[in-house]
Amino acid sequence: MQPSSCLLVTPRAPRSARSLRYRDEKTFEPKFTYSGEKGPDHWHELGNGENSLCASGTHQSPIDLHAASAQHGSPTALTLQLHPYPNGTTMHNLGTTIEIPAHGTMREGNRTYHLVQFHFHTPSEHHLYGEYFPVEVHFVFQNPVDASRRALGFFVELCASQGCGEPLLESIFGVVGTVARPGMEASTGPLDFCRLVEHFKSNKIYRYSGSLTTPPCSEPIEWILSAAPVAIDAENFLLAKKVLGFNARPVQN
Ligand SMILES: [Zn+2]
Repeated sequence: MQPSSCLLVTPRAPRSARSLRYRDEKTFEPKFTYSGEKGPDHWHELGNGENSLCASGTHQSPIDLHAASAQHGSPTALTLQLHPYPNGTTMHNLGTTIEIPAHGTMREGNRTYHLVQFHFHTPSEHHLYGEYFPVEVHFVFQNPVDASRRALGFFVELCASQGCGEPLLESIFGVVGTVARPGMEASTGPLDFCRLVEHFKSNKIYRYSGSLTTPPCSEPIEWILSAAPVAIDAENFLLAKKVLGFNARPVQN
């Protein structure tokens, strides 16, 4: 059961990384990039046609969210459960993002979607009435029956004092330097999603039908975005920005 409040959560300082493994770091090459010959303008040319939707898709993401481009409403029909990792879990530097495989579910009516992974973009990919944010977090879910996918996004805004941020993000970004280069893997700090789930439940959402924002740009992906940003302190944002670089696809609407 989902805890009814976050009172039992004690934010803890991230521990230093326990393990550090190298995939083949020297030869690791990202499948695509955010500039140059493998950048967004060329994604559809990469591979053997499997990325063609990046150019020919009709419902591509990200978009600028506003009253005419997405539904604005309440999240009450959605039940979000994200499983904690008190001892941390593994984060991967894919060269295109930092990705963390994780467990959880999103339920709506009789449909259940299972969390596959979550990852980060700097700056945000979606815009909100023309505004962008320093970071966007994406949780990617899949329905085990029909393989349809949903993505849940959170905008992240800076806050002023050290430790003022969302504990989950601080626990990841505080040690993100341990996966500084593509191909590296290391442990996060303890992950507790309680406050993030509370944030989701207590704010309006935007919904629209779009795509993956990375090759193969698959459609449809049902997007759900929390309308209110969560926070990260400036110090940890700078650590994350240094590792993530620029990894946002331009808006498509
Ligand atoms: Zn993403």
